[in-house]
Amino acid sequence: MNKEKIDFLKKEINKYSYNYYVLDNPLISDFEYDKLYNELKELENKYPELITPDSPTQRVGGISSSFKEIKHKYRLYSLDNTYDYNELKKWYEKIEKEFGKNTELVCELKIDGLAIALTYKDGLFIQGATRGDGITGEEITQNLKTIKAIPLKLFEDVDVEVRGEIYMPISSFEKLNKNVEKPFANPRNAAAGSLRQLDSSITAKRDLSMFSYTAIIEKANKEPKTHWDSIEYIKKLGFKTNPNIRLINNVEGAIEFCKEWENKRFSLNYATDGVVIKVNNLAIQNELGYTSRAPKWATAFKFPPEEISTKLIDIEISVGKTGAITPVAILEPVQLGGSIVSRASLHNFDEIKRLDIRIGDRVLIKKAAEIIPKVIKFVNSSEHETLSKIQVPQKCPECNSILEEREGEVNLYCSNDKCPSIVKAKLEYWVSKEAMDIDNIGPSIISQLYELDLVKKPIDFYKLKQSDLLKLDLVKEKSASNIYNSIQDSKNRPFSKFITGLSIRHVGKETAEILTNEFRTIEQLKNAKIEDLAKIEGIGDKIAYSIYNYFQEPENLEMLEDFSKLDFNFENTITQKSSELSNKIFVLTGTMNSMTRDEASNIIKQKGGKVSSTVSKKTSYVIVGENPGSKFEKAKNLGVIILNEDEFLKLIGDNK
Ligand SMILES: [Zn+2]
Repeated sequence: MNKEKIDFLKKEINKYSYNYYVLDNPLISDFEYDKLYNELKELENKYPELITPDSPTQRVGGISSSFKEIKHKYRLYSLDNTYDYNELKKWYEKIEKEFGKNTELVCELKIDGLAIALTYKDGLFIQGATRGDGITGEEITQNLKTIKAIPLKLFEDVDVEVRGEIYMPISSFEKLNKNVEKPFANPRNAAAGSLRQLDSSITAKRDLSMFSYTAIIEKANKEPKTHWDSIEYIKKLGFKTNPNIRLINNVEGAIEFCKEWENKRFSLNYATDGVVIKVNNLAIQNELGYTSRAPKWATAFKFPPEEISTKLIDIEISVGKTGAITPVAILEPVQLGGSIVSRASLHNFDEIKRLDIRIGDRVLIKKAAEIIPKVIKFVNSSEHETLSKIQVPQKCPECNSILEEREGEVNLYCSNDKCPSIVKAKLEYWVSKEAMDIDNIGPSIISQLYELDLVKKPIDFYKLKQSDLLKLDLVKEKSASNIYNSIQDSKNRPFSKFITGLSIRHVGKETAEILTNEFRTIEQLKNAKIEDLAKIEGIGDKIAYSIYNYFQEPENLEMLEDFSKLDFNFENTITQKSSELSNKIFVLTGTMNSMTRDEASNIIKQKGGKVSSTVSKKTSYVIVGENPGSKFEKAKNLGVIILNEDEFLKLIGDNK
C-alpha cells in the first residue's frame, strides 16, 4: 500500500518535473509540486527501505571530501574548429569527394558550458563525470543528480552513455552574481563553479540545466542510423535537446545557419560560442573516423569574439527623461559580434571610478544580450598611469544647472524641469512603443519641433497642423500627412499607455497598468489620496508619493485639462472593459471540467479581474475545481467566498 503510494507519487513528480525542466512546459504550480514532493519525502522518511536511487528526493545529495578521478569508457574527443568559412568549405569538399555530393550535415548550436558524460544501466542513472582531458574526468554523480533536466530513470531500460553540455541560463547567472561575494566572469564559469561543489546541496540551489547532443548506445531495441535520429532517440529517452538544429545537404546551408545565429545568439537565454556541424549518416561517420585528437566527421565554426579591445576616445554625457546623467564611451570603431561598435555603455560615474578607465586607455568591451555593448575594464599598459582621471561633471552639459545627488541612487541628476535634454527625452518617450506608439516620429523630428517652439510637452503634438510639419527639414506633403495621421491615431491607445507616456517618476508600463486597473479616468487618479495609492498591490510609498506629487503640479494639471478637451478614446475602452469582475481578485485551485486554468485566468483578466496564486484577505473569490489544494482550506479559514465551477461559469456568464 505504502509502496504503491510512493510509486504513484514518484511517477507524478517525475512527470511534472520532466514537463517543466525538459519540455519547458509547466503543468502545475510550484506550490502543488512542493506538496507532492513533501508528501513523498514524508513517506520515505517513515519507510526508508522503500527509497530507490531514482526517487526525486535523491536529487539533493550530500557532502564529499574530494572528486574521484575516473577513466572514461569512451573517449570524449575535442572538435577541430575554425572562424573561417573557407576552411569550412574545404572540410566539406573532402567529404563530398569521398561520399558524393549532397552528403547530409546536421548543424547545431555549440553551447558554451561544460561537457559531461552520463552512464545509464538498464535505464538507471549510475554515473556522471566531467570531460576532463577526454580520457579521464572527475566523477560528480551526486552533483549531476541535482540537475532536474538530467533524468534519473529513462523512459526505456537501455544501457547508454549520453553526453551533454551543462549550462546556466543567463538570467539565472545575473541573478546569482548579485548574491555571491565574488561574481563569476560569465555563465560558463558560474556553471563550472556550481558543478564542482563538494557540497551538492549548493549545486542543487543553482539553476543549472543541460542540453544533450549525443549518445553511445550499448544495448537498445532499435539503433538509430543517423545523427538526426539519435537526437530524436535521446529526446525519447527523456533528455532535453537544443531546439535550434537543422538538417541540410550542402555547405552553403551550414554557412547560412552560422550567419543566422551569429547575431541571433544574443537573444538566447544561454551562451553559445559557435555551431557544430556533423555528418548525419552514422555509417559515414564511422568510415571517416578520427585523427589523434578529433573526429573527421565533425567540425565547429566559432563565432567572432563577444569581447574585444579598442581605444576610448572620449566620454559623452547624455541626460535622460528623469534627468539622470549617463556617461557613454566613445570608441575607436571596431568589429564586434557581427556589427561595428563605436559607443558603449558606462552606466554611471561610480562605475568609471571603479573601473578606473581614462580617456586614451585601451578598453575591453563586451557584447551581451543588450544592443549596446558595455565597457568591462581597461587593458593594462604603461600609458595608463600617464593619463588623467575622468572628472565627475558638476554641471549639466545641456543647461548648465548644478547636478544633484539623490539619496540611495548612484546617478547624478539634472533637476531643471526645463532642461532641453530632459524635455526632449520625455517627448521621445511619449512617442515610443512603450507609451503612445506614434510612428514616423523620431529624435530628429522631435528635436526640430522643439527648436521651432512647436512642441514642448506631449499635448503640443495634438495641436500640430500639417502646415506646421512642413516647416521641418526633409518633411514633404506626404510625410507631413503621415506624421499627422500617426499622431491622430494615437488617440485610440489604451488608457495605461497614456499614463505611461506622462513620464511620472517611477511609473513605467507595469505600474501604469496597475493604476489603470484601479482608476478608470484621469479624474479619479488625480483625486487619489496618497494612502489610497500606497494600499494598491504593487505600489509602495515611494511610487504613491511620486504619483501624488505629479498631480499637485499646476502645469501638469493644466495639460491634463487640455487633454480632456481632445477627442481621446481611451476612457471608452476602459468603461467597456469594466464589469462586475473589475478589481476582483480570483484564486484558482483544483481542476475544472470545462476549461483549463489558463483559459479561466484569461477570461477573468479579459473581464477586468485579477488572478493571484495565493489566498489572502484581499482575495475576492476562490474558484474550486476537482481535487483542490490547500488554497481551499485557507479560503475557508479566511472566510473568502468560494465558488464551484458552475457558480463561476454563472458569474462570468452574467457578465457576458
Ligand atoms: Zn540639464
